[in-house]
Amino acid sequence: MDKCRICNNKIKKIINLGKIALVGNFLKKKTNQKKYQISLNYCLKCKHVQISECLNPDLLFKNYLWETGISSTNISLLKNLLTKLKKIGLNKDSKVLEIASNDGSFIKILKKKFKSYVVGIDPAKNLSKKANSEKIYTINNYFNYKTSQYIKSKFNKFDFIFARNVIAHLNNPNPVFLGVRNLLKDNGIFILEVPHLLNIINKNQYDNIFHEHVGFHSLKSVIDLCEINNLKVFNVEKISSQGGSLRCFICQNKSKKKVSKNIKKIIKIEKKNNLFSNKNLEKFKFRIINHSKNMNKLIKRLKRKKKRISVYGASGKGQALMQYTKIDNKLINYAFDKSKLKQGRFTPGTNVKIKDPKYISKKNVDYLIILSWNIKNEIVKQENRFFKNGGRFIIPFPKPQILK
Ligand SMILES: [Zn+2]
Repeated sequence: MDKCRICNNKIKKIINLGKIALVGNFLKKKTNQKKYQISLNYCLKCKHVQISECLNPDLLFKNYLWETGISSTNISLLKNLLTKLKKIGLNKDSKVLEIASNDGSFIKILKKKFKSYVVGIDPAKNLSKKANSEKIYTINNYFNYKTSQYIKSKFNKFDFIFARNVIAHLNNPNPVFLGVRNLLKDNGIFILEVPHLLNIINKNQYDNIFHEHVGFHSLKSVIDLCEINNLKVFNVEKISSQGGSLRCFICQNKSKKKVSKNIKKIIKIEKKNNLFSNKNLEKFKFRIINHSKNMNKLIKRLKRKKKRISVYGASGKGQALMQYTKIDNKLINYAFDKSKLKQGRFTPGTNVKIKDPKYISKKNVDYLIILSWNIKNEIVKQENRFFKNGGRFIIPFPKPQILK
């Protein structure tokens, strides 16, 4: 792609990150996986930060191994959202649609807690099958304007539509917003959560950059998408999910909902942090290069001292970071992850065997790199015994450091 995903104007390169294997591709055998080019760009007009490579989404999402239900940090974020939803009127009469509903675990909670009528849509065959088997009606497809027509013919319009951690994945965000507009009742609410570009740039979270994440959003880019598609952001809040995200509340453009002051406030912060300055965006390149050099140096130094190093967390982020920092099976013994789906498989592009975290002990690990750093506190607490026995954690961001 050489045009902006949002406004179709010219884009400019921030950094060419080389080639990496798809971060969700955990195979049962050690292999030299196919690697794909990836580069970060920004739009010269609307400043939207995005990847220019466009892969077939079936490669990425048809057989997705990430299940929402797993981390306890995510569960507590969920509880916070439920309280909020009750306040804004979600109840037993609400008709709810979730876009990219994964295994249905979120709408299942809405069905149970509020007795709402819920529908999901997700492209992963394995996950939508699982959701349907648990009586969470899930359409196995991508959401866009065309599928929204099908949904409308079957269910008519919705009071609430959710898209949590979805819009970053979209090669074509406009048809999704148009689909939402098509399905949202006049006084309905579209709730969207997305990792905030502010944190990605300011906290150097370049491990967020991989083929599944094609767009890095700000409140401005969400507002731009809404304006193009006749929707309106009427409230926004910051949440801690994914290292710092925005939760946007969106309605039909003609809706009379009161527009919150939070919007002006966050736009002001984005401007103050130069999120829309060409110079600042281009500088991100050097911070990425420095960080990956430092990370690689630290691990190689420990390896020379004959230390046994493993990583915790086989999330997409972690797989991107391992590849960008060139930390592979020559340096790393094991990857630990709670997901049963991933255990026994190998990390993509770096070929490290994934094991159940119950095997972490000072006997086989000296240093544990926490790749799922967004749930760092949870992991440190959980692996307290490892630390007490002299094991040490390495936290990659904002700068690689060893927890003492
Ligand atoms: Zn643009």
